[in-house]
Amino acid sequence: VSRFEAITMAPPDPILGVSEAFKADNDEKKLNLGVGAYRTEELQPYVLDVVKKAENLMLERGENKEYLPIEGLAAFNKATAELLFGADSPVISEQRVATIQGLSGTGSLRLAAVLIERYFPGAKVLISSPTWGNHKNIFNDARVPWSEYRYYDPKTVGLDFEGMIEDIKAAPEGSFVLLHGCAHNPTGIDPTPEQWEKIADVIQEKNHIPFFDVAYQGFASGSLDQDAASVRLFAARGMEIFVAQSYSKNLGLYSERIGAINVVCSSSDTAARVKSQLKRIARPMYSNPPIHGARIVANVVGDPALFGEWKAEMEMMAGRIKGVRQKLYDSLTSKDKSGKDWSFILKQIGMFSFTGLNKIQSDNMTNKWHVYMTKDGRISLAGLNLAKCEYLADAIIDSYH
Ligand code: PMP
Repeated sequence: VSRFEAITMAPPDPILGVSEAFKADNDEKKLNLGVGAYRTEELQPYVLDVVKKAENLMLERGENKEYLPIEGLAAFNKATAELLFGADSPVISEQRVATIQGLSGTGSLRLAAVLIERYFPGAKVLISSPTWGNHKNIFNDARVPWSEYRYYDPKTVGLDFEGMIEDIKAAPEGSFVLLHGCAHNPTGIDPTPEQWEKIADVIQEKNHIPFFDVAYQGFASGSLDQDAASVRLFAARGMEIFVAQSYSKNLGLYSERIGAINVVCSSSDTAARVKSQLKRIARPMYSNPPIHGARIVANVVGDPALFGEWKAEMEMMAGRIKGVRQKLYDSLTSKDKSGKDWSFILKQIGMFSFTGLNKIQSDNMTNKWHVYMTKDGRISLAGLNLAKCEYLADAIIDSYH
């Protein structure tokens, strides 16, 4: 008998498990709208041209594979903070940001979670209801207590702004408030600039600490600056902030695991101490981060020509997603005779659309129509093309009614 009898079978991951089920389906019409990864109009994975160019440059230079320092590649850390806050931001010139390279968005969130567990014992993290499924896993495994604030209003398929503000107000003073910098996952619903100001007001009143998760900078609107506006608005108020960043989507570096955690502090002295503790957390976890993705980002951002090309490719990707969003809306509106208002689809932003389909309806999408999606009703528009919009609209209408 095995010594490991007590180890039970873990359930499949609710997001990555969808891809496994998709692979096992042999129907020609099958469509994978589960995981959030960009596909071309031919529904193929896409490596950005700027990434290939940066990799060629790296190869030509014959760079070595020596270990990086614990905090990662210096040129990457500088570039990533500047991209986020703006190169002319006072938080940068005053050296008030502690930035270390992380294992993409997930690993960077995890470093911050450990810092919270260690230095803010008992403090709660408020997360939106709903949120990206892995947020709960990350805080659970780091033993950080969390609770939810209202975010999504099923009646309007929009933002429950009043509920959100009430819940942030009602939380114990000094809580962390996890916010999606742009393109909220899974709903695709973002606060307006006026609403962001109000959110910042309440967080300041309550001495909470804002904790931004920025997984889609440049990928939501097509503009790096516009997608960072929420974070910059908070930084301009002189607040202390956590920000996790990811280059999975905007530079298509999913499997390179490249991102960063930034902690904006009230002084450069504090930032130096925070950075030293982030390094101490990283060292026994993975010692030091991988170099390849960091070099790609540093090369792309550091070269004006490549930087310009990246922006154009990001606009192209964001544009393709906006195009299928429009086509899906048009198809639903022309096919559905029930009079249902589908305009919420056009109001959403980013890679995802929250359809409002419940679990049973989502099961129908998969079992009858071979459309793979998460059971919360989220579809990834990045996995859709114009040719399949009509088919998807048929599936959604059939499942709704
Ligand atoms: N946060 C959010 C909200 C996300 O949607 C994602 C990607 N699905 C991530 C973080 C992190 O992804 P990664 O670890 O690949 O950077």
